[in-house]
Amino acid sequence: MISRTTYDLVRSTADLIIRSEHFIAFTGAGISTESGIPDFRSAHSGLWSHIDPMAVASIYGFRKNPKAFYEWIKPLAHKIMEARPNPGHEMIAELERMGYIKSVITQNIDMLHWKAGNRNISELHGHLRSATCINCFQQYDAAPVLEKFLTDGEVPRCTNCQEGILKPDVILFGEQLPYKELQAAQDAARACDLMLIVGSSLEVAPASDLPILAKKTGARLVILNLERTNLDFEADVVIHGRAAQILPQIVREVRK
Ligand code: NAD
Repeated sequence: MISRTTYDLVRSTADLIIRSEHFIAFTGAGISTESGIPDFRSAHSGLWSHIDPMAVASIYGFRKNPKAFYEWIKPLAHKIMEARPNPGHEMIAELERMGYIKSVITQNIDMLHWKAGNRNISELHGHLRSATCINCFQQYDAAPVLEKFLTDGEVPRCTNCQEGILKPDVILFGEQLPYKELQAAQDAARACDLMLIVGSSLEVAPASDLPILAKKTGARLVILNLERTNLDFEADVVIHGRAAQILPQIVREVRK
């Protein structure tokens, strides 16, 4: 077998992009690690290492012990509030501005695609822009809610009904994905002829079903990830590397 260099793989990806008619990106936590936000499954990231996800990061856990949820999400929320887009996000935005990327499906809650300039985004797992009372459903800006918690450590409560606890608008285990976002993402996966998957272990369903849906309807798949994924064998191009390093190379080749 002829081994292909990273440059060959970057070139092949650029060729696929140039020839595509409906190109979409699908991103996960790995695109944001170089903005200082740890992912969930890389070794040493630590976000899952000391906890039982079902106990703290599920809707049942949240209702039972919201304080444990807030304590767990505290370092992540802090990092997300400070984070800026890295060259990986910037290149995904650049590809949208250049007219290549039609939409971005992201599993991330960090809003960095929006900050980088993408405008057509499906946030499958929610976001940290807002928080909602689990009793009366009054919605609040998340930033002041989280900032207050980071300062005083008190679980945020609703000032409207005075009863409910505020939950950031992120999807926890046991919750349905937002219907409109999932529908838009599935439509995009069916419509695309090229899907670029960046920084996802592809282990979280139903999001991880989207590349399979795209493949089934005839799309090419490019996977850019530090480590192997379960779908590498289905991909037309697999690049093992850092998103913030490889995506600028891909855009450079597209511009040529
Ligand atoms: P994951 O943690 O399961 O997998 C991340 C993958 O990215 C890993 O396979 C890792 O090898 C790879 N990776 C890490 N750094 C990379 C880099 N610089 N360049 C390329 N690849 C890199 O992430 P997931 O598949 O998105 O699933 C995790 C779930 O956790 C999602 O539901 C997401 O909502 C949530 N999450 C979000 C954030 C965020 O918003 N930034 C952070 C942590 C977790």
